[in-house]
Amino acid sequence: MTRDEILGWLREEDEAKLEELWARADAVRKEIVGDEVHLRGLIEISNYCVRQCGYCGLRADNKLTRYRMQREEIIACAQEAASYGYGTVVMQSGEEYGITTDWIAGIIREIKSLTPLAITLSLGERPDSDLECWKEAGADRYLLRFETSDPELYKLIHPDVACILSDRVRILKKLKALKYETGSGVMIGIPGQTYDVLANDIMLFTELDLDMIGVGPYISHPSTPLGKGEWTRMVDPSEQVPATELMAYKVVALTRIMCPEANIPSTSALATLNKAKGREFGLQRGANVVMPNMTPRKYRSLYEIYPSKACIDETAEECRSCMRGRIFSIGRTVGAGQGGRIRRGK
Ligand code: SAM
Ligand code: SF4
Repeated sequence: MTRDEILGWLREEDEAKLEELWARADAVRKEIVGDEVHLRGLIEISNYCVRQCGYCGLRADNKLTRYRMQREEIIACAQEAASYGYGTVVMQSGEEYGITTDWIAGIIREIKSLTPLAITLSLGERPDSDLECWKEAGADRYLLRFETSDPELYKLIHPDVACILSDRVRILKKLKALKYETGSGVMIGIPGQTYDVLANDIMLFTELDLDMIGVGPYISHPSTPLGKGEWTRMVDPSEQVPATELMAYKVVALTRIMCPEANIPSTSALATLNKAKGREFGLQRGANVVMPNMTPRKYRSLYEIYPSKACIDETAEECRSCMRGRIFSIGRTVGAGQGGRIRRGK
């Protein structure tokens, strides 16, 4: 598909035409990655953060109760995930240096010695030496969304903080060189994001040859500069991408068609916009992964990146049976094993 065709689909409003897009994405998904839906247990290990992202509720300046899970709590969550048959745990947090290099390395080693899980990290823009150390300790994958391919918009919404320049595309290339399975993605409908920029984002997914791609709607948080309308880039309203559920499905579908082998989650942000059916629609329009929340309940509401986040009142067990029910309800199966990227013909 060409960039112009992508742009055409992003602007398409005709429901009958869009059915064609959903069918095409679903057919590619079925042919290339099959009917299995892989479950990745998500552990939100800390909500401290040194960054000031203009969109995120965890930004350093926000006053909220901060927590960092204990090592034993994290290991217990991972063991629980393994007992549920999940193939992967994802350790995610704000970018925070109270999480030390050695502390994470020790946790990775212990999870690896106790379980057959693949380990995904999503800990922000850590120095190359940390990424190297964690790979050596046994980490398999790393998630770092580049958020937008437009350098000017990126600088506005994701500013450098003292002494730490932000260059997520460079880090993604480093992660690939270190042989991490590498994941990235964008938010859809960020104020100032045009259709052209979003088409470039999708082209960049292919250029970077990403193994995992997470895309979800931008959800306004009232206690952030973007949510308050303070950091805005003026664009022609007819060029502004809407932060809607429909637009998010279009991007999931186009991403599947452009990057057929990638593991693509049906995200929590989608489930937040449509709690009844968002996960299922994502899975039927290109996605093949879900990330049930394993974070202990007492911490969940504190990891408030945006308001009314899905799955904050449930236990890990409840998330597990809810996700399985949703997967079976659309005629799909639960993936076995670690569910890494499979390269066709290699
Ligand atoms: N701190 C790490 C990082 O930034 O990569 C990982 C945690 S961060 C909360 C994970 C993702 O949440 C970000 O990459 C961003 O795309 C998403 N996010 C943050 N605020 C959001 C918002 N208001 N709406 C939708 N997604 C949001
Ligand atoms: Fe911190 Fe990540 Fe939120 Fe940015 S998106 S403020 S790095 S948690």
